[in-house]
Amino acid sequence: MTCWGIYVHSPFCPYKCTYCDFDAGFRPGRLTGPYVAALCREVATTAALELQPEDLADSLYFGGGTPSLFSAEELRAVLRALTSAIPLVPGSEATIETIPEAVDRNKAEALRRLGFNRVSIGAETFNEQHLRGLGRTHSSASIDEAFGTLRLAGHGNINLDLIIGLPGQSAADWEENLDRAFLLRPEHISMYILEVHEETRLGREVKAGRVTLPEDEQVAAMYETLRHRAGQEGYLHYEISNFALPGFSSIHNLKYWSDQPYLGFGSSAHSYNLRERWRNRSTPSGYIRAVGHDGQAVEERSLADARSRYQEAIFLGLRKTEGIDLADFERRFGQDPTVSHSAEVADLIASELVVMEDRRLRLTARGLLLSNEVFVQFV
Ligand code: SF4
Repeated sequence: MTCWGIYVHSPFCPYKCTYCDFDAGFRPGRLTGPYVAALCREVATTAALELQPEDLADSLYFGGGTPSLFSAEELRAVLRALTSAIPLVPGSEATIETIPEAVDRNKAEALRRLGFNRVSIGAETFNEQHLRGLGRTHSSASIDEAFGTLRLAGHGNINLDLIIGLPGQSAADWEENLDRAFLLRPEHISMYILEVHEETRLGREVKAGRVTLPEDEQVAAMYETLRHRAGQEGYLHYEISNFALPGFSSIHNLKYWSDQPYLGFGSSAHSYNLRERWRNRSTPSGYIRAVGHDGQAVEERSLADARSRYQEAIFLGLRKTEGIDLADFERRFGQDPTVSHSAEVADLIASELVVMEDRRLRLTARGLLLSNEVFVQFV
């Protein structure tokens, strides 16, 4: 019996943010109906190929993009396709992402009725000027409003996404963001350090010298402030970028960091069945066409051989602040990183990037900031 995590991707957003390099930001419209129909078909085809009768799912994540732009009927159709393909363990975490302006009372109540028990709001920042700079159309007040509306509708598990390192963002701006965020007391906070990609509008503005980004040291200081404040407010820092009140760590995301199987549906969705990884076509039109042709839209498939699984398990496991359990690695892979990568681990310990305690290897505070330097040692 396999217990899967299920991801459903929506590529649709009402606008394209200046920094966004996701396979998202496509305008909803005439493609939405065919896309939803394709999702339902892909679920049925994949279920027939991948699932065993005794398989279950214990987490559901509608991400994107802005999946909350789907109507209640469209969401219901996809959920129906999923639950007829694979039983969902009662009480499973079911998350949907939204932007503040896509939440009103009807939507908030509909999401509850449909069974979503976790909502993730792409707040990004409470600073009006920074919101404009990102190309967002909502105000900071609408983040508060969306949050309040979701609470009134009975949503008791809400995540806020925040971004560190925005153009012109100062330490004081970041403190104000945290004041506003902690005032709402979300169950979960996900923090992203802004990455600037050349092909985005922001990338072009940075290249042309029209906007300036904070220095790495400033970004590091903001991250430290978040860690400190979150600790004071009772949040558990359980993964490099994620903070949760006790009992509210994201079950779905923990699957990705713990070498667990997941099925992804929709354009650009990724899947992993412990033997193979595959990725779908990235554009909605390409995805719809491919599913219409053969029921699936796989663009790339690769073998998850023992070596790549072991390497991924190391650096994904190290993303969790509890680190990796070396005895568990020994049991699952017949070796552990302190033996297979003894020289690298010794260097990382000497550089105070990782620490070994009670047969666990984990990132230090410095390692959390420089995690990519650590991960590259295990490739
Ligand atoms: S809302 Fe999110 S997914 Fe959509 S364009 Fe903005 S950053 Fe990209």
